[in-house]
Amino acid sequence: MDIKGKKVTVVGLGNSGVNAAILLAQKGASVRATEAKDNPATRAAAKLLSEKGAEVEIGVHTEKFIRGSELVVLSPGVEDSSPSVKWAEGLRIPIISEMELGYRFCEGKIIAITGTNGKSTVTTLIGQMLKDGGKDSVVCGNIGNSLSGEIGRIKADTWVVLEVSSFQLERVEKFRPRIALILNITDDHMDRYKKFDDYFNEKLKVFRNQDKGDILILNHDAENLRSLQKMARCEVLFYSRTGMVNGAYVKSGRIFSSYGSGESDICAVSDIRLKGLHNVENVLASSLVGTIAGVGSASIKRTLTNFKGLAHRFETVDIIDGVEYIDDSKGTTVDSTCRALESCAKPVVLIAGGKDKHSDYSFVRDAVKRNVSYLVLIGEASEAIGKALGNIVDTRRAKDMFEAVDAAAGIAKNGQIVLLSPMCSSFDMFSSYKERGDVFREAVKRLRNSQRKIKINR
Ligand code: ADP
Repeated sequence: MDIKGKKVTVVGLGNSGVNAAILLAQKGASVRATEAKDNPATRAAAKLLSEKGAEVEIGVHTEKFIRGSELVVLSPGVEDSSPSVKWAEGLRIPIISEMELGYRFCEGKIIAITGTNGKSTVTTLIGQMLKDGGKDSVVCGNIGNSLSGEIGRIKADTWVVLEVSSFQLERVEKFRPRIALILNITDDHMDRYKKFDDYFNEKLKVFRNQDKGDILILNHDAENLRSLQKMARCEVLFYSRTGMVNGAYVKSGRIFSSYGSGESDICAVSDIRLKGLHNVENVLASSLVGTIAGVGSASIKRTLTNFKGLAHRFETVDIIDGVEYIDDSKGTTVDSTCRALESCAKPVVLIAGGKDKHSDYSFVRDAVKRNVSYLVLIGEASEAIGKALGNIVDTRRAKDMFEAVDAAAGIAKNGQIVLLSPMCSSFDMFSSYKERGDVFREAVKRLRNSQRKIKINR
């Protein structure tokens, strides 16, 4: 991409926007950056970019920052309704996403991982597999460090393990990964998209430009993904927990991955350190990518037996009086909570709720009927969740996480599970899912140190 001397405006100054602006400046563009929020973080970003010669405005977007630009680069958090987008569209200025910008300068082999749930787990696991297998790799994208910020570390034979969200796929043009992986597409972000199909179609952009020499990997167990094979111009492989497919599968309790020269027997499902059925899917997908990248099965097995997963994703925090406390604070969608419940072999006291994303909570009804003995609701979405589930399970509301944990502890019996899996984002009560998970841990810790259980008469 020849950007030298071009006037480019970056909209949004989070990690992605800042790195896009720095990359553009390094490549000789004349950079402007505009950010609506004015807080210590955006002020620090503005200072950094000003020092690199960019013209920066914060606290407001103005048309003059867009006017005269030859290209606009959007951060993933910027929605189509943003005035900057409207002005750029009105002025017919090309708009691309930060990820597209990074792609244009990326020489490495991209493995793009998308899906509603499991992206970070699979991205990290694949990154670890490649590292353990001695491959040069960089892990980046939606997981925290944007592609634009990693360009300097990427060479032609580097595997770029890239977590891709639907927001990042909006406004891609030429983005063409060597390997694209779609894990699942279920109900999410209905506060950003008008309908499910809009969200679904954004995700499909991950393989829209793939062609001969590329590979698309699909979860065969996800009904709405199987038929995508027809739309692909490249090779398509599958993974499945339930049947034999061309790719990776479970056979007689063992993980197999086949690509090129025959079938590789990786390990027994029981060798995997990650817990939960959904993680068997994640392991299959990751093992297949590892096999394609040339990592041997013995090395993949080593990674799988060591990888303990990421914090706040179905993570056991403690076992107190025979009750297991599981932190699934990153369970921010209805489907992730369904999957968490599916992975609990014992009765569950579920703590759910948070910022409502207008999800259809009735989708979890069957899973709740099957193994939730009591429901504790927190946050803004309490009413909506209560409406959807209150008539099938005993429910109470709690004013904060400490009360929720104390109440759950009061009701859970020896041999049962207290599961925080909120189905919602955290921003009504916390700064992030991490903080929510940390407060849950803290509440469990206090429980261990004192007898704070709330007595509940049923
Ligand atoms: P993402 O990056 O897509 O949000 P994470 O790996 O951070 O995915 O996991 C988010 C939530 O989804 C967690 O609650 C986790 O337990 C759950 N999860 C992980 N993998 C899957 C999967 N393959 N299918 C459904 N849910 C999953």
